Amino acid sequence: MMTNEELWKTVLTEIEPQISQAGFITWFKQTSVLDMKEGTALVSVPNGFAKEWLQNKYHKHIIQAFRNISQGIKHVEYVITKHSETDAPHSVAIIKKKKDDSIIKESQLDIKELRVDPQTNLNPRYTFGNFIIGRFNEIAHAAAQSALQNIGRTYNPLFIYGGVGLGKTHLIQAFGNESIKKYPGIKVKYITSERFMSELLESYGLPEKMDALKERYRSIDVFIVDDIQFLARGEKMQEDFFHTFNSLYDKNKQIIISSDRPPRSIATLEERLKSRFEGGAIIDVSVPDFETRTLILKMKMNEKQFSLSEEVLEYISNSIKTNVRELEGALNRLIIHTKMTNTPLTIEEVKKILSTTSNNVKKFTTPKKIIKAVSDFYDIKEQDLLNKSRKQYIVKPRQIVMYLLRNELLSSFPSIGEYLGGRDHSTVIHACEKISEDLKNNLLLEEEIRSIKDRIYKL
Ligand code: ADP
Ligand code: MG
Repeated sequence: MMTNEELWKTVLTEIEPQISQAGFITWFKQTSVLDMKEGTALVSVPNGFAKEWLQNKYHKHIIQAFRNISQGIKHVEYVITKHSETDAPHSVAIIKKKKDDSIIKESQLDIKELRVDPQTNLNPRYTFGNFIIGRFNEIAHAAAQSALQNIGRTYNPLFIYGGVGLGKTHLIQAFGNESIKKYPGIKVKYITSERFMSELLESYGLPEKMDALKERYRSIDVFIVDDIQFLARGEKMQEDFFHTFNSLYDKNKQIIISSDRPPRSIATLEERLKSRFEGGAIIDVSVPDFETRTLILKMKMNEKQFSLSEEVLEYISNSIKTNVRELEGALNRLIIHTKMTNTPLTIEEVKKILSTTSNNVKKFTTPKKIIKAVSDFYDIKEQDLLNKSRKQYIVKPRQIVMYLLRNELLSSFPSIGEYLGGRDHSTVIHACEKISEDLKNNLLLEEEIRSIKDRIYKL
């Protein structure tokens, strides 16, 4: 069962790699989850500064991390609670509210335990040991294993792509963790393309900083870049990435890259990078079959020391088919529910819990965000989606916009037509039907729409 302490620890583990190390240590020390009630998580912070920072700067990360664990958590509130002066400066104190409302310090949890290594950026929780292999990922796994035997010389670069929540990050981080175990002293660096860009941006115009950055990257043995599809268009950025890539590649250093789609389909990627990536191995991760989904659930249950009946397991495996993260999320939701009610779950309750969280709680978005996500994804101008342009390459993205406006926002057909340059409502109906129909037998389209939605709700 997940205690508040474990819950917060999971949240922190997820947030840490996303923000600067200094920010994490400064603003998340002496924080804890006080209480979880009716969809609201109460987070304790040591002072007003921390409260302000968490609220204004990190709230999005925090709420996202909570929701990855449980869709049922809708709000996060921050409360200031006093800590004893003796708290170690770099520890997260776990506080618990007692019945009489006095607050006592229950235990302390050293940040080190959940620390993402600041040198490598690797999270120790991702290992091959807790990575389940099935038909959907066995080739990617095998390629990683064989690259590990002969680092830099088997598959270089190794390019892994696939939908959201299918274990790409887990696999490539496990590669990093395992290579350090296997070859002590080896230099590994994991980075998301977004963080890579922000490091570059911070160094532009500062020659010393830039030199230091280049030096850091030059000495890497295993370079792991996550979500390369977010590498922005822009000459300077792509050129700097290209140089980093080449200097490592020429020295036979291992490069591992992940993406939500194959290099050819990344519109923002420069041609020379695409062809570089195609010089290595490009391998996809698909979706797990029923047996594998059940196996994953069983392993996660074990990890969390929680158990569910075969019937319930079967029900979950049958209702969540295309995303391991959601599978894990469903399990966490059930754990949290059990923890709050303190009674074992019946299958009816399970159905209720899982249906309310996945269907009824619509996440919030706006037409603007939908337009932005689609235009980003296909790399076309927002204006082109909105006006009457009949260019062939705009047609499909625009139909997807219509489909998403209809399905995510429940907008009326006429209002969608109005919004998109005064089109007739029958055009909109046709578009929505076309996309729905295509979705039935076009896996690639399904994949595209899934990653667009992912972007929409990140905006
Ligand atoms: P992606 O990077 O493809 O979006 P992640 O690697 O973040 O997906 O995986 C989402 C969650 O599912 C993580 O918590 C991860 O540990 C878990 N997961 C994914 N694939 C597997 C697997 N094959 N075995 C065990 N856990 C997995
Ligand atoms: Mg990932």
